[in-house]
Amino acid sequence: MNAFDVIIIGAGPAGSTCATLCSEAGQRVLLLEASRFPRDKVCGDCLNPAAWPVLERLVVEERVRALTSTTPEKIRFSVADAGSTEIPVPKSQGKGNTSELVVRRRDLDELLVERAIEAGVQFQDGSPVTALRKVSGQWEVTTSTGDYHLGKRIVAADGRNSVTARYLGMHTSRRRKGRIGLQVHIPHPTGYDSALEMRIYRHGYGGLADLGNGLANLCLVANDGEMKELRKEAEIHYGLTSACAWRSITPISRASAPHVAREGVFLCGDAARVVEPFTGEGISFALRSGALLADILNTGKSDCTKVQASQEELYRRGHRDLYRSGLLVNRLTCLLSEHPKIAHALSPFLLKHPNLLTFLTSKVISI
Ligand SMILES: Cc1cc2nc3c(=O)[nH]c(=O)nc-3n(C[C@H](O)[C@H](O)[C@H](O)COP(=O)(O)OP(=O)(O)OC[C@H]3O[C@@H](n4cnc5c(N)ncnc54)[C@H](O)[C@@H]3O)c2cc1C
Repeated sequence: MNAFDVIIIGAGPAGSTCATLCSEAGQRVLLLEASRFPRDKVCGDCLNPAAWPVLERLVVEERVRALTSTTPEKIRFSVADAGSTEIPVPKSQGKGNTSELVVRRRDLDELLVERAIEAGVQFQDGSPVTALRKVSGQWEVTTSTGDYHLGKRIVAADGRNSVTARYLGMHTSRRRKGRIGLQVHIPHPTGYDSALEMRIYRHGYGGLADLGNGLANLCLVANDGEMKELRKEAEIHYGLTSACAWRSITPISRASAPHVAREGVFLCGDAARVVEPFTGEGISFALRSGALLADILNTGKSDCTKVQASQEELYRRGHRDLYRSGLLVNRLTCLLSEHPKIAHALSPFLLKHPNLLTFLTSKVISI
């Protein structure tokens, strides 16, 4: 059995960021990941500019830019039976090149894990965590491979369906209205340019993003029971003929975890809180919550209960503040997405007022 200061469960952007920054501060860190890396995951592959300050802190911004990626110049909003309008991608106010980037998750997440390993993190993929229990004031973590590890702190960065949060009763069982997400990588559809296309269909919404090298990411989100029709609509819209290898995920929205920190366990990224996919902000929130948590965990390695309690309180407050501002447009799209009839009623008005769309988009794509 190995002993660590911090055991991080899940090597998405939240987990890898937290792992790198804790390890660089001198903590012994274990990063456990269920999948074999590199792996794809359900995501629109759009990186919001708010991610860049964290990527700079991790000193990976040049390496991220060197990945196969595109920088969309315009966004096309299109609505089934109502037409479309295009707006330029708002210019970020940040220093240097802080643009929106479309980059495949398997590449981005692999790079962030590489960075964590360089920082001294012990990484084990193909190791789903299957149990946690308290042993003499520390956490014993068991994986499906039969390994046991001891950790003073646990970071649950295991995504929107966090098993850790479920084992420890840190998620509420109450689900928001059920929705499902689908995603596929396809050859870039003919007749479409490199604009980021956000489309409201009759049965849900979706996004098409150009990944470069002739590849595109297509994502769809629908209320329960409507995905079959939505998929058909999208296949017709983009002229997809052959069977696609869709990946799926649910839930799309979930009530925020009532406890983001308890007994030395800290929820991070989607495990703590999910945001509506439409505005493409989830990765940047995951990165920022990973960095926030690392800074707090680096204030003390001790297993003394006073230090632990103060870290938990600091994280609760910091996490609340992180998600408090800047999510107005995200909340609005969540509401509209759950009520497609209202979204369709509003669409003609929005299409006629591209300035309003530019304003709302600038609230999302800006740092
Ligand atoms: C349809 C859709 C489209 C989206 N599009 C975008 C977009 O364009 N831009 C954007 O910024 N965000 C987007 N998001 C949101 C974004 O994907 C998430 O917010 C982001 O991935 C959260 O990162 P994370 O590190 O918290 O979790 P994740 O990226 O989900 O990583 C969690 C990791 O934990 C691992 N894991 C799970 N269980 C265990 C276990 N028991 N043991 C060990 N490891 C485990 C998983 O394998 C995974 O690697 C989208 C979401 C959806 C659903």
